[in-house]
Amino acid sequence: MTEGKEIIDLTDEDKEEPWCASCAQFADYRRKWSTFPRADLDGGSYTQNEEIPYCVTCDSRMHYLRACRRVVWGVRLICLFCGFISTLLFFVLFTPSAYSLLGWIFSVLLLIGFSKLPVQSLYVLKQYNAKQSNHSPQSM
Ligand SMILES: [Zn+2]
Repeated sequence: MTEGKEIIDLTDEDKEEPWCASCAQFADYRRKWSTFPRADLDGGSYTQNEEIPYCVTCDSRMHYLRACRRVVWGVRLICLFCGFISTLLFFVLFTPSAYSLLGWIFSVLLLIGFSKLPVQSLYVLKQYNAKQSNHSPQSM
């Protein structure tokens, strides 16, 4: 019997500076540890420690831009996939009619709404991008 288990350390990513949405900058931060109860495979539970950065200036929770991008693009990809499926459903599976067109428009509207769900991540990224474009003023 071989114990060839590979241990992957998920926390060992290269550290990224967190962004403060209230101060709109990469402010100084301090770390707080939160514990979350997680279920394990044996039906029990264990606590997982999570490091959350808080802004020193305004004491609000800060966000990692990379994580925000990941959330936003993950949701967008899911929406694109669902849009593709619904297009197939309404125009290939059913014979195209006014009703299938209505159903398709409804599903597209629903998906657009769904893609706006990660409100906080979208807000943080939008604010960050606005700040970046302010820092490098283009020619008038
Ligand atoms: Zn702040």
